[in-house]
Amino acid sequence: MNAPARLPLPPSLYADTAVAAAATPPLDADKNVSVAIIGGGFTGLSTALHLAEQGVGALVLEAQEPGWGASGNNGGQTNPGLKHDPDQIEADFGPDLGRRMIDFCYGTTNFTHGLIRRYQIPCEARQNGTLRAAYNEASAAAIDKTAQQCIRRGMPVKLLNRDELREMTGTDRYLCAMLDTRGGDLHPLSYARGLARAAISAGAGVHGETPALSLRRDGSRWRIETPRAVVHAEKVLLATNGFTDDLWPALRRTIVPVFSSIAATAPLSDEVARSIMPTRPVLYESGHITVYYRIDQQGRLLMGGRGPMRWISSPSDVAYLIRYAERLWPQLKGVSWTHGWNSRLAITKDHYPHVHEPAENILISLGCNGRGVALSTAMGAQLARRLIGGANAEIDMPITGIKPIPMHAFWPVGVTSAVIAGRVRDRLGI
Ligand SMILES: Cc1cc2nc3c(=O)[nH]c(=O)nc-3n(C[C@H](O)[C@H](O)[C@H](O)COP(=O)(O)OP(=O)(O)OC[C@H]3O[C@@H](n4cnc5c(N)ncnc54)[C@H](O)[C@@H]3O)c2cc1C
Repeated sequence: MNAPARLPLPPSLYADTAVAAAATPPLDADKNVSVAIIGGGFTGLSTALHLAEQGVGALVLEAQEPGWGASGNNGGQTNPGLKHDPDQIEADFGPDLGRRMIDFCYGTTNFTHGLIRRYQIPCEARQNGTLRAAYNEASAAAIDKTAQQCIRRGMPVKLLNRDELREMTGTDRYLCAMLDTRGGDLHPLSYARGLARAAISAGAGVHGETPALSLRRDGSRWRIETPRAVVHAEKVLLATNGFTDDLWPALRRTIVPVFSSIAATAPLSDEVARSIMPTRPVLYESGHITVYYRIDQQGRLLMGGRGPMRWISSPSDVAYLIRYAERLWPQLKGVSWTHGWNSRLAITKDHYPHVHEPAENILISLGCNGRGVALSTAMGAQLARRLIGGANAEIDMPITGIKPIPMHAFWPVGVTSAVIAGRVRDRLGI
């Protein structure tokens, strides 16, 4: 069978500045493995690393190259927690699993930064905190509630008022924010490449340009066809997130694969760079349309948010984000914006990440809902535990059935109108 042509990396700042990738040649000989992992983003690579650390043979099959998907193209923010508040998580999943989920999800950033230190992954990682910021009364009330719930559970978070935020961000836009000192940032493509390198050094196989074309049972094992070779695996993990195809029935219809976009400036002058978030936390806004940003270690501003629902290639494709940044910091007028790019992430209907086990020895993990940098890294350790089985097989996330979203075919219309409605509501502050 002919191999489909490999797609280049999106034209991002990261593609131009990442560390070199380890060799991950296409798979060209049949293999028998304990665990085959489909998808070479943070989820797949971290699972492979954690399996290999425990001596379990893991083979990653990646259609393009490791980090090609959302993992190598995201905002680079390592943010603790889930979209839902801790009280909501406990109400949804009960005191036992709910509490374990909270500990796990709020622990993901320390886990990730610890892993980076342990493997000395060169990816510009810092832990200067995450600001979850509100610019209208409704979001301010919600953030206050979240902060109280986190404080009650002894977490290292603080509610900041408008004056403190003016100091911290250099703009007057925010009424309040929750600062979580466990948050931080990193260079996502360097991190993905570092994870791939660590997984390979620990004994895993990682193959780029190797799409899984079909997946079916073959006796007691699973058979995965790729363009040049066939893989027989005892167990399979699907980790394809926003690029999920029809490999597993109905899975594609359980997520909405939305694009998120980022624009990056050239390195700012010292004076301008110091005037924007001088202590270098990361920030995401709590609104109908999330805007997120950070200043990287070279003093560039990376501004992210919703953009066109198609692939883009230049900052002019995300003029909305640039105008927004100039409204926050008028001193940016005339600054050069060098890159504009995007990628796809997976949103689930309930906004929780989803783990499924639809058949014996098949595990699926997807739907980090825009918070996957730390979450999918830490999920990798949980998924490895599940795949190894035995006494430690219970994980700190619910395992649910595959439930396609009703009227899924209409998601592009739904997302476009939600984005437009969200922008109008955000502009009106309602
Ligand atoms: C623009 C953007 C900004 C974001 N910002 C942040 C942020 O700041 N902080 C945060 O926490 N999260 C952020 N996210 C979310 C985060 O990037 C994702 O949750 C995370 O990277 C998901 O990792 P993954 O491994 O599950 O999926 P991906 O990295 O998307 O990997 C899936 C891989 O599967 C491969 N694949 C698909 N089908 C097949 C097949 N049949 N065979 C083989 N391979 C296949 C794809 O090529 C792809 O490489 C952002 C996402 C985007 C798109």
